[in-house]
Amino acid sequence: MHNTENEEHWSDHAICRGADPDLFFPIGYSAPVLKAQEDAAKAICANCPVKADCLAWALRVGEPDGIWGGTTPEERRYLRRTADAPERRPLPVIVVRGDASESEHASAA
Ligand code: SF4
Repeated sequence: MHNTENEEHWSDHAICRGADPDLFFPIGYSAPVLKAQEDAAKAICANCPVKADCLAWALRVGEPDGIWGGTTPEERRYLRRTADAPERRPLPVIVVRGDASESEHASAA
């Protein structure tokens, strides 16, 4: 991940360096176990000084697996979708101007 030999990289400051990689690539045999593994990895990410850089990198490369920057793959897909979504603008208001006044409508009926 280094650009040059002497250049620092955000991953040099990752607190997960040396941690069990299985923790960040959880494979649960049931939903509660998987959630517990994800939560354990996210708890480490919560104290990581390079969390934002890690998440930005995972979003940029489209990292499909594992916990990165405190997010699951599903959470990153959601972030990418919402970031790519066009800006929500209010719908235009269409004003219909009646040529006849209310009293003219009443007399015509
Ligand atoms: S945010 Fe999490 S996955 Fe990313 S470097 Fe830090 S501890 Fe590792």
